[in-house]
Amino acid sequence: MDPKTEHKPHCLILPYPGQGHINPMIEFSKRLAHKGITITFAVPQGALTSSAAGNNIVVETISDGYDSPTARADVDPREHLLSFKKAGPESTSRLIEKLREGGRPVDCVVCDAFMPWGLAVAKSKGLSGAAFFTQASSVNVIYYNVFKGLLKVPVTERETVLPGLPPLAISDLPSFVVDPEKYPGALELLVGQFEGVEDSHFMFVNSVYELEEEANDWMKKSISVKTIGPAIPSIYLDKRLQDDTNYGLSMFKPDDTCMKWLQQRSPKSVIYVSFGSMAKLEKHEMEELATALKLTGKHFLWVVRSSEVSKLPENFSDEASGKGLIVSWCSQLEVLAHDAIGCFVTHCGWNSTLEALSLGVPMVGVPWWSDQAMNAKFVMDVWKVGVKACPNEEGVVGHEELVSCVKHVMEGERAGEMRENARKWKELAKGAVDEGGSSDKNIQDFISTLMGGAMSQK
Ligand code: UDP
Repeated sequence: MDPKTEHKPHCLILPYPGQGHINPMIEFSKRLAHKGITITFAVPQGALTSSAAGNNIVVETISDGYDSPTARADVDPREHLLSFKKAGPESTSRLIEKLREGGRPVDCVVCDAFMPWGLAVAKSKGLSGAAFFTQASSVNVIYYNVFKGLLKVPVTERETVLPGLPPLAISDLPSFVVDPEKYPGALELLVGQFEGVEDSHFMFVNSVYELEEEANDWMKKSISVKTIGPAIPSIYLDKRLQDDTNYGLSMFKPDDTCMKWLQQRSPKSVIYVSFGSMAKLEKHEMEELATALKLTGKHFLWVVRSSEVSKLPENFSDEASGKGLIVSWCSQLEVLAHDAIGCFVTHCGWNSTLEALSLGVPMVGVPWWSDQAMNAKFVMDVWKVGVKACPNEEGVVGHEELVSCVKHVMEGERAGEMRENARKWKELAKGAVDEGGSSDKNIQDFISTLMGGAMSQK
């Protein structure tokens, strides 16, 4: 037997412990496992409330310096990353040793680009490494230009023109390149994602080549970019991974009343509202949203995380009970896939955006920070599957604007066209991960390289 075919390569996957990072990296891991790669998925101790990854994936723990959910709960993300950077490398090295001693030697470390120290650990252990980016390729173009000194921050020009991207207004750019001082450390973190990437064999991006062709083509001139998305459970796309029905690793507990409630609504009638796992709206922003939802007269399902509930207007939950359901977390994919959903009012986090594109749901983008404004710009002007809400002079998206956006997307003149575009992207997303699709080919390329042992250190 050819000795190369006997060896089953082993990847150690290191996600940043945020829901929007764990989700795509676990799905990528499942795709690799399905194609015969051994996977160890390492997360900080206590970061998960459920760890049923299944699909032959072994979940291990490493240290981010906190080691308990309560210790981590109120930590500033920047402090957390610094602590992880301090504690992570040593504990990851120990894990690699433990796996080697247990007869499961690691061949390649795939680390979240938020943690470039993972590439350094791989190198120090003589292993190959690859970085995994959880934002859009177009956003990567921005940060890569900053990394190379080609885009000066803070950006003050009215319009930014970069290769591979449409012209971008200031309000379309990631907030960290416009106002870096407001978010200490954030720009450094996001630009730092490229540390060591030019020296690694692959840079994985949770996107679809065809969604962002120009951006991907431009990046490919410098780095071996592999789009591998949408990294969402196979059941919603190609259905080739039979057990892959949900992400499986959750930091929050979903409320299971949603599906029963949706079941009672007519097709395309419900507004689904969620701002992801991190956004913290101001009280008055919540009030605008609550007023808008009431004024639309439509049914709505609103995810308000328990840490945000106190910002809801008094008695709103009771008053809304006939029309709306408020939950602290839901299984978002199940919700988006439900026929009753007519539009998604979203902060345009990249996962939520990609999930809505993959499930053919039109969006109202209400970006909060980071890359969300840019994702919302693409939703409206490039993919044409929704609108981006406009804030007023005080920077707040008012209830009138919200009502108008929702009506535009659900019943406006262009609603049919947006729905048709959404349907088109849904097909494209499925095709990308299906056999022979662009993402499937990229995953296969990586595996062939691993199998062939050609990924020795660069
Ligand atoms: N999500 C979920 N239930 C919710 C809200 C969000 O499962 O009630 C998931 C959503 O499907 C997505 C992730 O949490 O995969 C949020 O990632 P995103 O990049 O959209 O936003 P972030 O939380 O990073 O701001």
